[in-house]
Amino acid sequence: MSARILDGKLLATHLKGKLIEEIKQLRNSVDEVPRILSIVVGNDPASLSYAASQQKTAQSVGIHFELQNFKADSSQEDILNLIGEVNSYDHVHGIIVNKPLPAQMNFKTIINAITPYKDIEGMNLTNFGHLLMGEEGIFPCTPVAALELLKSSGVALKGKHAIVIGRSEIVGKPVALLLLKEDMTVTICHSKTIDLPFVVHDADVVIVALGKPGFVKGEWIKNGAIVIDVGINQVDGKLVGDVDFASAQEKASYITPVPGGVGPVTSVMLMNNAVKAFKIQHQL
Ligand code: NAP
Repeated sequence: MSARILDGKLLATHLKGKLIEEIKQLRNSVDEVPRILSIVVGNDPASLSYAASQQKTAQSVGIHFELQNFKADSSQEDILNLIGEVNSYDHVHGIIVNKPLPAQMNFKTIINAITPYKDIEGMNLTNFGHLLMGEEGIFPCTPVAALELLKSSGVALKGKHAIVIGRSEIVGKPVALLLLKEDMTVTICHSKTIDLPFVVHDADVVIVALGKPGFVKGEWIKNGAIVIDVGINQVDGKLVGDVDFASAQEKASYITPVPGGVGPVTSVMLMNNAVKAFKIQHQL
C-alpha cells in the first residue's frame, strides 16, 4: 500500500477561501473586521518570524493585525497591563502571546490574564476547561489543524481507535480531547509508555507529536491506518516530521507530509479562532 497524502497546503488554501468569504460577510453585516494583537517580547528571531507569518496570513484573509514588540527587559507587569487594557477594548478581538518569553515572565500567568473569548491561541484555563467538558470554546490551533486534516480524509472516525503520541498542553492533550469529542476511542502515549510499537500497532489513527525526527517507524503502523505527523524538526537544514515518512507511507492509507501537512493548516486555524472570537464578541 502507498498512502494518499493529506495535503496541508491544499486544505489551508481551501479553508482560507472560506474565511475570506466569511470575513466579507461579517464586514457587510457589522461594518467591522476582526482585529488581532500579537505580542513579542525581545527579538528572538523565531518569535519575530512567527509574528511576521501571522501578519501575512491575517492580511491575506482580511483580518487587521497589530504587533506589539516589547523590549527584552520589560517586566511581566508591562505585559499584564497591556492585556488588561486590550481586554476592555471593543475593537481588538484576539490576543496572541508569542514564545519564548524572557525568564522574568510566566507564560501561563500571562495567557490566563487574557479574557477567554480573546484568547485566540486557545491556551487559557477557561478554554481548556471548555474542551475538557466537551463544550464549545476557542481551542489550540495545532490540534484543531490535525483534526481538520484527519477529517479531510473523509474516513468515518466514530468508535475507531486513535493513538496520540505526546501529552503536551499545546498538542497531545488537546488533540486527544478533540478526538474524544469525535467519539473516537483514544489512547495517549508518552515517554513512559511501555512497548510503544505494540500500542501503536492497534491504532486506526496515529497522531504523532513528540519532537523526535523520524521516530515512528512504518513497521509499527497497522495496515491502512491514518497517520498525522505534527512534528517539526530541523535535520541537516531540512524540516522533517516525527514519523519515518518513507516506511510509514508503505503501511498507512493516508499520511501528512512534513513540511506541507499540519503546519500550513495551523496558521489558518489561528485566523479561524480570531473570527470565532469576533463572532462571540459581536454575539453573532
Ligand atoms: P513537547 O512539549 O516536548 O512534548 C513532547 C511529548 O512527547 C511529551 O509528552 C513526551 O512525553 C513525549 N515523548 C517524548 N519522547 C517520547 C518517546 N520516546 N516516546 C513516547 N513519547 C515521547 O513537544 P510539543 O510542543 O507537543 O511538540 C511536539 C512536536 O510537534 C514538536 O516536533 C514540535 O515542533 C511540533 N509542533 C508542531 C506544530 C505545528 O504547527 N505543526 C505546533 C506545535 C508543535 P513526556 O510527557 O512523558 O515527557
